[in-house]
Amino acid sequence: MKFSVTILGSGAAIPTIERKPTAQLVSVRECAILLDCAEGTQIQIITFRKRLHKIKYIFITHLHGDHYFGLIGMLTSMHLLGRQKELTLFGPPGLKEIIDIQLHHSKTTLIYPLIFKTVDADVTELLLDDGRITVTSFPLKHSIPTWGFLIREKPLSRGIRKDFAGNHDIPIPEFERIKNGHDYIDDKGIVYKNEDITIAPPRVRSYAYCTDTAYFEDIIPVIKGVDVLYHEATFTHELADNAHEKLHSTVLEAATIAKKAGAGKLIIGHFSARYRETEALLKEAVDIFPNTIVAEDGMEIDI
Ligand SMILES: [Zn+2]
Ligand SMILES: [Zn+2]
Repeated sequence: MKFSVTILGSGAAIPTIERKPTAQLVSVRECAILLDCAEGTQIQIITFRKRLHKIKYIFITHLHGDHYFGLIGMLTSMHLLGRQKELTLFGPPGLKEIIDIQLHHSKTTLIYPLIFKTVDADVTELLLDDGRITVTSFPLKHSIPTWGFLIREKPLSRGIRKDFAGNHDIPIPEFERIKNGHDYIDDKGIVYKNEDITIAPPRVRSYAYCTDTAYFEDIIPVIKGVDVLYHEATFTHELADNAHEKLHSTVLEAATIAKKAGAGKLIIGHFSARYRETEALLKEAVDIFPNTIVAEDGMEIDI
């Protein structure tokens, strides 16, 4: 089953021709999740041939404009396109007020239900469990309150082998029991061991999204062993003073977090507009964490 992330914006605060500010679209178990919604996000969704109406949940990390200035435009487009389906928006305190005031002064009443859920805990918190996936928020270290998000698939039950199911007349109630690990006894009393008649469920995959943040080892226990980690890397380490002053990370610091967390893969992004070439960024990362890729707008990565 598909679990992928599409980079809609890989740049920091100032948009460039090559890089728009931050947004990502995650597709997991038939569910579309938008992570941040910078200015231009809906244009990027159209450009990369994704579907606006499929988005079910939006998670906003913090209230710096390069992470949410595209929200009101996108919410309004969904309204104009006749969206009926509920949309759930998770974000910092103050986000509801910002959206409400814009809707109020444009005399817009959305025709679809928009549910606000505030992320305001300074601890790791399970925000969403929809039966297929979980999303957990965790505090990052930035100049205003900011959260990272960990998206994890929920384990599936075991699958019954097709050849066995095809050759045996299994009563329907027994299917669930077998999937849950029980042996099967047929009407002649023959016992079939569960491990012989089922296959193991697919591996549970996870994706961690960490932007914006200074180097912050407190996140390591939360993201330990994650399959893919997106970590901001606004500057090369040569400009560490700039990064530390603005509570951003350098590439070296992002790679160090990935290594210490035992991540499977690292995606670096949120690059300052000064970086037109990415070779130096990549080199700085792979020296510490070889399995690193540089985020580019439009790139789709399988988790
Ligand atoms: Zn930012
Ligand atoms: Zn920020």
